[in-house]
Amino acid sequence: MLVVRALENIPEKGIAKGEEFRLYIVDAHHHMGREKNHQNTPSGAYEFYALLWFEMQRMTEKMKNQDALLFEPIGIIAPELPERIFKTKEKWSRMNHGWLVDRTVVFPYTDDYSKSKSTEEPSFQVSNDKIAAWTTRAPHSSRLIGFARVDPKDAINGSPDLPMRELDRAIGELGLRGLKLHPLAQLFLDDIEADYTRNVVARAGELGIPVILDTRNIRTAERIRNLVVSMRQDEKYKKAMRGLSVILAHCAMSPGSTKLYDILRDPAIYGETSTLHDKDVPVLFKMSSDRLKSHLGSWSENLLFGTDFTFLSVQAAELILHLLSREFPGSLEDAQRILGGNALTLVNRPFGTIKSAERPPQAVVCLGCEGDAVVTLEDTIMKLISGEGWDITSVDYMIPPKHTWPRMESMSAGGHNGIYFDSYVISLGIRGGITEVHLWVKKGPGNITSCTVLGTKGEDALDSLEFGTQKINATFTKAINSNPIKSNSAMDLTREVLKLLA
Ligand SMILES: [Zn+2]
Repeated sequence: MLVVRALENIPEKGIAKGEEFRLYIVDAHHHMGREKNHQNTPSGAYEFYALLWFEMQRMTEKMKNQDALLFEPIGIIAPELPERIFKTKEKWSRMNHGWLVDRTVVFPYTDDYSKSKSTEEPSFQVSNDKIAAWTTRAPHSSRLIGFARVDPKDAINGSPDLPMRELDRAIGELGLRGLKLHPLAQLFLDDIEADYTRNVVARAGELGIPVILDTRNIRTAERIRNLVVSMRQDEKYKKAMRGLSVILAHCAMSPGSTKLYDILRDPAIYGETSTLHDKDVPVLFKMSSDRLKSHLGSWSENLLFGTDFTFLSVQAAELILHLLSREFPGSLEDAQRILGGNALTLVNRPFGTIKSAERPPQAVVCLGCEGDAVVTLEDTIMKLISGEGWDITSVDYMIPPKHTWPRMESMSAGGHNGIYFDSYVISLGIRGGITEVHLWVKKGPGNITSCTVLGTKGEDALDSLEFGTQKINATFTKAINSNPIKSNSAMDLTREVLKLLA
């Protein structure tokens, strides 16, 4: 998390000079794997973020001298639980840095190994396996969110359902949580509106996962918009449209085009900021704030921060600093949505695969447990994963429902930035097995600590991280009310949870 400090009073926002805030940052565009002279792994990502922070500090000095900043970046803090996971092993603790960025959406390159050996095997199979291996094991599972890649053209060269089969496998069996498509690299730029592309996008919609498409000019963006509009008009895609969100990577590299904003007004289409630099950056936000007023939420709900590392390097520093500058037309809330909130809202669901059996939720509550109950529980889980059996496949914090991202609270008032650090889901899976569970940990109010053990699929599973929505309320109320196991100490709570995992 990036800690920033107000450089002056901002009375219209109720912010006093010197107040500090923390911004939770998600990188929505990041590559791992290997493509020609590009290569990246989780540790490469964290090193890059450390470098990005170094660059930001350098640029901050310059901008302060020009009196260009409203908020000055003053430090980095890691979210508590992920950092504790990184500290549990010597070799992991060496990667406990780069916390300028808290979560990273990673997907394959057009890897050297992405081509399949036969037309009956999908492309990117090995690449998707590798992304899953990196993103669904501790410690990286607390920091990375894996997206799959497929080649829609596999449908032409091989069996027509080949790309959808790979997508189903990547999402359902590997637990990846979104899709990246690259019309230029996979040579379907002219066929974005063709049936074979539409089928892949429709399947992503049915699975309820976001799709990010490499988009380098406005013509490609228009084709993508036409595809989305044509699906919306067709009854056949009703279900797909309910779950579909499409992200234009690089904002089509056209921030000066009014057409871009016509396209971003589509409720299913978003823009991601990587590659934008120099004058592009103020132009994007000025035009967005003028042209993306929506009746439901803020203009800033349509934009996502991304780095496109390793293809790009420290340009992203410029963009983050612009969000803190006088020139930025939005508020700190807008900055928080762009830097992380929107990406989390699009991913929305906690980690899970279709492999595990359904199980009814069971809550364990501890009344009057002091604050350390959660620490005791977490310590025990860390011990659990250091053995052969369980692994942490993800750590997902609850977030506010769509269109309700809250006001930023100063650090002295609690520092709430929209991420619910006191309500989160730890996904646990048995290594090499099919069993997986969610532990939904919830602290307070009034010293009530609870840990609900749930299945990852079925009627009673959590299908969203949006805290306060009806489904979550119903799941939680039911689990808490129907025979909760009561405990009266931190150790007792932990013991009961362990019994449920046995
Ligand atoms: Zn990229």
